[in-house]
Amino acid sequence: MPLEDYENQLYYSCIGCGSCRVGYKSFMPICPSGEKFGFDSYYAVGRLKIARGLLDGTVEWSEALLDRLFTCLGCAACNELCYHQTGMKPLDIIMEVKRQLVERGIAHPRNKGVAHTRHKEIIKNFKNYHNPYGRPSRTQTEECNQSGAEILYFVGCQRTWEAPQIVANETIKLLRLAEVDFCMLMDEWCCGSPLLATGHQKAAREIVKHNIEAIEKLGVKTVVCDCPTCYITFRDSYPNILGKELPFKLMHKIEYLEGLINSQKLRPVKEVPEKVTYHDPCTLGRLGKIYESPRNVLNSIPGLEMVEMPRNRESAWCCGSGGGVAFSYPDFATWTALRRLDEAESTGANLLTTVCPICEKTFVAALGTDKRAIKVCDVSELLLRSLE
Ligand code: SF4
Ligand code: SF4
Repeated sequence: MPLEDYENQLYYSCIGCGSCRVGYKSFMPICPSGEKFGFDSYYAVGRLKIARGLLDGTVEWSEALLDRLFTCLGCAACNELCYHQTGMKPLDIIMEVKRQLVERGIAHPRNKGVAHTRHKEIIKNFKNYHNPYGRPSRTQTEECNQSGAEILYFVGCQRTWEAPQIVANETIKLLRLAEVDFCMLMDEWCCGSPLLATGHQKAAREIVKHNIEAIEKLGVKTVVCDCPTCYITFRDSYPNILGKELPFKLMHKIEYLEGLINSQKLRPVKEVPEKVTYHDPCTLGRLGKIYESPRNVLNSIPGLEMVEMPRNRESAWCCGSGGGVAFSYPDFATWTALRRLDEAESTGANLLTTVCPICEKTFVAALGTDKRAIKVCDVSELLLRSLE
């Protein structure tokens, strides 16, 4: 939606109350960029003031805006309390300003001197390899490109190229143990989210088209995404870009695994004596509203003790990698992840578990910069331990 269409919200809904600085229900600090950089213009309240200024001409479209806008993680924490008070979602407006900064050539990778040189690299990698990492190949399995399967497991590039040995294999093992008839794409491209999060809508179109056509060819009725970001990108952005509904049912992996436990196709019987806390990925939680499935899976595991962090569900603090920040501002991403690790350790848990490969990778990378006792893993690893 063009910025002009947000005029009423900007002038009449945003009352400058600053509630976007704190979490819904927890009332604890929730905006990582605001907390890190300390100025209003790094919180939603200031970013919306900038948007108002852009509309009435008191603020210029310029490179001075880039750090203020592109340090926004897109974590949607600011939406929660604001939406309950005003019916407005400030992140929608922030995303539109980002998109326009790209479209006006201000944040364009061709524009030398712009802080976002990493975006240039991402675009190049997408052109050559169809993923942000510039990795040429992926591990194939016998299930690739089998048509007529019950579900398609969309692995996502994070699992495929960044940690294939850790969890994609665990999920495949779980699906095989439950005797699920599944397939995967031989030529799976990134879902396109890094392009969309950094305002490159046009470049994302080709990616979206490829993935949908490849899935349609296999004739599957259900697509199960490993990565919450792929899940939300398929759910929210694909229909907008394609101008039609998705031609299949969409699920996140953890909902599917919960269903396999409920139908007793997976039976967690072995004790897993760990004290764990669960990190809600912003995309799966605040955007996907999937809060209970991962907790239900964890609670089905015998011997496992689950403790909550003070900021959980709608109030969860971001891992630090959203909105292209892990690419453009890696130090800020690490700072954000370390704050979450502090919170996880404060519960006494020895494991921080999640269901997002991006969050997991960000936490593991942060642990590498600052040794801690706590370890990080995906919920599916714990589930597999309770079965084998
Ligand atoms: S964006 Fe929402 S929560 Fe933030 S100052 Fe405006 S009205 Fe208040
Ligand atoms: S999306 Fe997250 S980082 Fe961006 S303004 Fe909202 S709370 Fe802050």
